[in-house]
Amino acid sequence: ASTWANVPQGPADPILGITEAFKADNDPKKMNLGVGAYRDDSGKPYVLSAVRKAEQLILQDKLDKEYLPINGLASFTQSAALLAYGKDSIPLIEKRIAATQSISGTGALRIGGTFISRFYPHAKKIYLPTPTWGNHNAVFKDSGLEVASYRYFDKSTIGLDFKGLLEDLKNAPKHSIFLLHACAHNPTGVDPTREQWDEISNIIKEQEHFPFFDMAYQGFASGDTNRDAYALRKFVSDGHHIALAQSFAKNMGLYGERAGTFSIITSSPQEKTVVDSQLKILIRPMYSNPPLNGARIASYVLGNSELNQEWLSEVKLMADRIITMRDKLKNHLVNDVGSKHPWNHITDQIGMFCFTGLTPQQVERITKEFHVYLTKDGRISLAGISSHNVKYLAEAIHEVTR
Ligand code: PLP
Repeated sequence: ASTWANVPQGPADPILGITEAFKADNDPKKMNLGVGAYRDDSGKPYVLSAVRKAEQLILQDKLDKEYLPINGLASFTQSAALLAYGKDSIPLIEKRIAATQSISGTGALRIGGTFISRFYPHAKKIYLPTPTWGNHNAVFKDSGLEVASYRYFDKSTIGLDFKGLLEDLKNAPKHSIFLLHACAHNPTGVDPTREQWDEISNIIKEQEHFPFFDMAYQGFASGDTNRDAYALRKFVSDGHHIALAQSFAKNMGLYGERAGTFSIITSSPQEKTVVDSQLKILIRPMYSNPPLNGARIASYVLGNSELNQEWLSEVKLMADRIITMRDKLKNHLVNDVGSKHPWNHITDQIGMFCFTGLTPQQVERITKEFHVYLTKDGRISLAGISSHNVKYLAEAIHEVTR
């Protein structure tokens, strides 16, 4: 028998499966709302002009292709930390944030998961919101952590289950690890308000829990990178020693370049040096050192004031287009096609995704009858909608939710 005869067939990735079905559909009206990548108003992938310019500069500078250090390109990780924590961040000023480049956000979560699993002195169990990004579970399990969940989304209101969330924070054993989406919660698009974040921070403090922020959408939610960093910075100023996974996939459109960072706040520059040494020990046997190109592009964009300004305006442009699509979709549903359901959640939610509230049966129908592709949980990517097809989508949603 073959050596691998006993390897079982694994299930297909649910999101990539949707893209395959979409590609095989020949209907001209088809829409792919499964993808988690930005599209412009003609449905095309968008390379930011600031990124194109950075690439030109990099070419002109004729840089070499030597290996990066294990923890990556210093100019990139420094600029990235400044973007996330802000220039007034005390731990940043006091040089006690350990940081490393990572294989985008996923790699950052994996480095963080493994670091925690090796060194966290309390229960090695991480609590994830229900629901959460589909990959969190596997990333943390494969990092050697036990995975648990906390309440987050309330199906009946299509909003935040704030009461359940607080109860779960209070009832978890002291020193529990909580994963928090910094902004633009994926898949629900439901974020706590500022006041709610403040309360979450207080309770996490009281319970001495450890907050691990996943920030995959800074700037992409509101269009303003500072505004989207509110929760993270509030926790830091409340004195939490947080961990952070940061991605430049969405906000810089660097998806395939895999540019990200993992960072963790320590109590002193000495402790930072020690943590940095262990991050390197952990990374070296995984991939030795990170890819150069995306980090270089991001470091040019973040480090050059002209490119930085242009980037910030492009981030706003992307966020604004998404917010406009939310408005249009809701408007068509309520005012044009005459749906009697409340659709306020479409505009209350934020970020790339909208949790529509469509049931799995309705999702099946909208795909079959209207060629609209989305995940079974009713999540749509606003980035897949354009001014040309938003009305068609509203009609389709109305038909299946009548
Ligand atoms: N975290 C969340 C919540 C995400 O939605 C994503 C991407 O969809 C990621 C992390 C990681 O993305 P990447 O590894 O491409 O940076």
